[in-house]
Amino acid sequence: MSSSNSRIYLSAPHMSGYEQEYIDSAFATNWIAPLGPNVDAFEKEVADYMGIQGALALSSGTAAIHLGLKYLGITRGDRVFCSSLTFSASANPIVYEGGEPVFIDSEPVSWNMSPRALEKAFDAAKKAGKMPKAAIIVDLYGQSADMQPLLEICDAYHVPVIEDAAEAMGSAYQGKACGKLAKLSVLSFNGNKIITTSGGGMLLSDDLEAIEKARFWATQARDKARHYQHSEIGYNYRMSNILAGIGRGQLKVLEDRVRAKRQVFDAYYQALNAIDGIDFMPEAHGGRCNRWLTTLTLDPQKIKVTPNDILDRLEAENIEARPVWKPLHLQPVFKDCAYYTHKDTASVSDYLFNNGICLPSGTNMSAEDQDRVIRCLLEILRA
Ligand SMILES: *Cc1c(COP(=O)(O)O)cnc(C)c1O
Repeated sequence: MSSSNSRIYLSAPHMSGYEQEYIDSAFATNWIAPLGPNVDAFEKEVADYMGIQGALALSSGTAAIHLGLKYLGITRGDRVFCSSLTFSASANPIVYEGGEPVFIDSEPVSWNMSPRALEKAFDAAKKAGKMPKAAIIVDLYGQSADMQPLLEICDAYHVPVIEDAAEAMGSAYQGKACGKLAKLSVLSFNGNKIITTSGGGMLLSDDLEAIEKARFWATQARDKARHYQHSEIGYNYRMSNILAGIGRGQLKVLEDRVRAKRQVFDAYYQALNAIDGIDFMPEAHGGRCNRWLTTLTLDPQKIKVTPNDILDRLEAENIEARPVWKPLHLQPVFKDCAYYTHKDTASVSDYLFNNGICLPSGTNMSAEDQDRVIRCLLEILRA
C-alpha cells in the first residue's frame, strides 16, 4: 500500500467512509452553520453511546473544560487541582477564568493522578485555608484514572470534579465508560484523537441544568428575546453542522478504532516487552484502555539508549514519535504553581517524562508500517 519510506504518523485521522453522506446532507440542505441537524443528532448519538443524559457539542475540548469550570463558578483567585502529566489544554482554562492551577503528580500504575498526592494537596490546602473550588482529573493516553479513591477524596471535601477524557473515548473503568465518571466530563475530537471531527469537543453530564447553562454561554449568551439581548458574557464555542457530520460517521466505527489501537499496542508489546528495562504503560486493574497512544518507558539503569536517541533515529527513518507529555509543573508558564508529588523523594511524572516515548499508533497504519517501526526500534535497542 505505502512505499517503503513514506511518513508514518503518530496518530493520523482515519475516516470510515460514513462521514461523507452526513457532510453531503449538510450541503444539500444548506445547513452550513454552527448548529443544525447533524449537531443535534451527534449530541444525541454520543449521549446514547455513553449512557449519559446531556451532551453539548463544542468547537474544542478546551472550550468544554472552560465552560465546565465556568459552571463550577471558578473566578479570580480560585484554586483548581489538576493532573500535572497532561497536555496544557487541561489547565489553560483555569487561567482563562483567573484561577490558579495546583498540580498533582501521577501514580506509577495508571500514570494518572495519584490519590496519595491528592491527599497531600488537600492537607496543605486545609492548613493554608485555601481549599480548591474544583479538580480536573485526566484520563491519560486513553487510560482511566483510578477514579474511585480520587472521587472519594474530592467528595469528602465537597470539591466537584471535571473528568478530562479528551484522550479516553471508548475506554472504561469498573464497567463504566470514561467520559461519565465525574460530575462533568470532557471529550475531544481533535484530529489526532481516537475519533475526530477535525476539531471539536463535547461537554457531558447527567446534570442537564449544567449542560443547558453551558449551551447558553457557548451560543453568545443570548437572552430569550426577539432582539439581541445579553445579561452575561458569552462565547462562540458551538460545533459546526458540517464537522458534526464527520463526528457522526466516526462514532459508527469507534469500537473498531479501539480494537485496532489495542492491536497496535499488542504488536509492540509482543515485539519489545521481553527487553529488560522496557516498561509499557500498564493497563490498570479494572480498566479497559483504548490505547490511544502506545507509550513506554526506558529504564536508564538498564538501557543505554535514551528516548531522544530513539526519537532521532525514528525521525531519520521518517517515523513520527514523541516524548511523553511534559508535566505542567515543569512548564515555564506554570512555574509559580504549587505541585504535590506521589512519593516524598521523587516525582513520578518527571520520571515518565524523562524516560518515556509515545510510538506511532495510527489505526490506519499498515502492519508493514508497524513492522518498519518495530525493526527500527529493535536495531537501536540491540545495538
Ligand atoms: C487534546 C486534549 C485536550 C484539548 O482538546 P482540544 O479539542 O484539542 O481542545 C485536553 N486535554 C487533553 C488531555 C487532551 O489530550
